Amino acid sequence: MSAAPAGRLAVVGIGPGAADLVTPQASAVLAEAEALYGYGPYLDRVPARDGQRRVPSDNREERARAEAALAEATAGRSVALVSGGDPGVFAMAAAVCEAVEAGPEAFRAVDLVVVPGVTAMLAVAARLGAPLGHDFCAINLSDNLKPWSLVEARLDAAATAGFVIALYNPVSKARPWQLGAALERLRAHLPAATPVVFGRAVSRADERIEVSTIAAADPARADMATLVLVGSAETRLVERPGLPPLVYTPRFSREAAR
Ligand code: SAH
Repeated sequence: MSAAPAGRLAVVGIGPGAADLVTPQASAVLAEAEALYGYGPYLDRVPARDGQRRVPSDNREERARAEAALAEATAGRSVALVSGGDPGVFAMAAAVCEAVEAGPEAFRAVDLVVVPGVTAMLAVAARLGAPLGHDFCAINLSDNLKPWSLVEARLDAAATAGFVIALYNPVSKARPWQLGAALERLRAHLPAATPVVFGRAVSRADERIEVSTIAAADPARADMATLVLVGSAETRLVERPGLPPLVYTPRFSREAAR
């Protein structure tokens, strides 16, 4: 019995925005693909190639987009699914794995390749020095797919355990109050001077990086294109003459000296 023609699906991270933050591997895989799937604005960042089909979709249709890309791959074609940043960080790789697990047997025969990319928290951190220089975690502030009570429990656990916290998806039109509530919750655990960074559209033309403190941080400074980094009690701010301050978390913990 001959096997069905199983194609390939590459889930490709294209980084935070700048063309030179797309890895050579991502560029090569995107250039080879017969069809490109993805959220429209992400597809617009991929150089055009003759004969390559583009299937743009809306931002909210992640599962349907994953299934459509898998279905095309099962027909024997080479398909790429584009993701901002890294595809494994709050993005399409997990949607594809969900679709493979729940979908028809043919989805499991697809040669699935995940191509990593520069995720937003790394691009933002690099602008500041080394805020992620010690232990850290990432929390998706969207409560579309989990209850807000779980977000609160994780914020408490992360802050009390001394993690620097990267907050993805801090706000959207449908989620206007969550970031304010999260910052208020973190104020209960962190010293007032703890650095907070708003990294907006990093590596794009409209990039804006702002450094504040947990006491003063204004949630209105964040939009959908912003990554919020909340320091730990050990995160430091170093002023420099004529240059933006460094924000870094030392490699050693004060706890180690106790
Ligand atoms: N897979 C993406 C994250 C998707 S969730 C990644 O690895 O980066 C979308 C969130 O990512 C946004 O709400 C924002 O918090 C963050 N983000 C994505 N691109 C960004 C950029 N260029 N600058 C700052 N934050 C960004």
